[in-house]
Amino acid sequence: MKDETVSIHGGYAGDPTTHACAVPIYQTVAYEFDSAEHGAALFNLEVEGNIYTRIGNPTNAVLERRVAALEGGVEALTVSSGMAAINYAILNLAEAGNNIVSLPQLYGATYTLFAHLLPKQGINTRFAESDDPAAIERLIDDGTRAIYCETVGNPAGNIADIAALAEIAHKHGVPLIVDNTVATPVLLKPIQHGADIVVHALTKFMGGHGTTLGGIIVDSGRFPWREHRRRFYMFNEPEPSYHGVVYTEQYGDAAYIARCRTVAQRNTGSTLSPLSAFLLLQGVETLPLRVERHVENARRAAEFLRAHDRVEWINYVGFPESPYYKLAQRYLAGRCCSLMTFGVAGGFESGAKFFDALKLFKRLVNMGDAKSLACHPASTTHRQLSLEEQRKAGISPETIRLSIGIEHIDDILADLAQALDATR
Ligand code: PLP
Repeated sequence: MKDETVSIHGGYAGDPTTHACAVPIYQTVAYEFDSAEHGAALFNLEVEGNIYTRIGNPTNAVLERRVAALEGGVEALTVSSGMAAINYAILNLAEAGNNIVSLPQLYGATYTLFAHLLPKQGINTRFAESDDPAAIERLIDDGTRAIYCETVGNPAGNIADIAALAEIAHKHGVPLIVDNTVATPVLLKPIQHGADIVVHALTKFMGGHGTTLGGIIVDSGRFPWREHRRRFYMFNEPEPSYHGVVYTEQYGDAAYIARCRTVAQRNTGSTLSPLSAFLLLQGVETLPLRVERHVENARRAAEFLRAHDRVEWINYVGFPESPYYKLAQRYLAGRCCSLMTFGVAGGFESGAKFFDALKLFKRLVNMGDAKSLACHPASTTHRQLSLEEQRKAGISPETIRLSIGIEHIDDILADLAQALDATR
């Protein structure tokens, strides 16, 4: 079925006990066993069923199946936030002594996780000089366990050449992990272009209303873990923390997610609450409709900003002068996301004046809400980064990032106009 239909019906065939039409919120910690034998069979993974919400919940399972279907994956795991999804996606396949190779343009907390936190656990990140696939390939060695990128970078707005990165990753026997938060599967399905693992902050466009944190990891089911037994022994040898299960034998194509659930999630517990899963499902139902309006409003706002005498530069991949224009045509079919950055003439001071004058746009550090949002990365999300790190992440001191909402375009443009006037 098409995205519009999957977003509403995917992963839910009705509630077996109550026949509830809406997805019920299974607000329970644990599930009763029929008997000692039944409990043992569940723990032995011999029968399907629920044990404890830290590792699985029926409401969360609907969201997992729905997003897996939208992305074209075989399985998914919901977690408590986008950052938890990124952390687990890496910890599930790398350990002390390994490295991952990443594009330099990343969301601020992803950058700090990779640059500062994971190295303390012995997993180093090699940041490429640029997002040129050749710059990535140069950094791969025998210790590399994954290539990582954002399909559309936040806030840089760069578009990753997913097919080229996937080819390089597969040539070296490692998976490509992508963060598809900004694009959403409505605009871009990275698995179709060769990505192996897709992560999301459901917090953003997928939920769409700025009410609920959540993350998800989707497994394409395509990476040949068995062919790379030595490098990815954790999927091919008995797992000591889960009584010796061999994930590729027990779960076949879904080995990666099964291990993520029963090792990372079970033992460290960044679980999504069932109520949050329910709220996020409400958002996903309207995702294709909202994205359509986001994209159209963003195009109009970008055109308005480009023509304005107070705007010094604008970074919007829908313009032919953008270095990412061709990739945006190829991967997004020209339906550019609603994220853009720009600089007001007059540097940092004018940028601050513009920011303070906004009335409809919310001043905050979020994106992907139905509401239009504005953020000043240098003083917030990317504050912990040095100027050089900020430059590599694609921002400068005056950069304003806009996430264009789904209000009426006339009201959005009027707010931008009056805030720009305030900088004169
Ligand atoms: N990935 C991207 C691209 C993001 O923009 C964000 C947050 O802004 C995250 C991941 C982290 O998501 P969360 O805030 O749900 O942890």
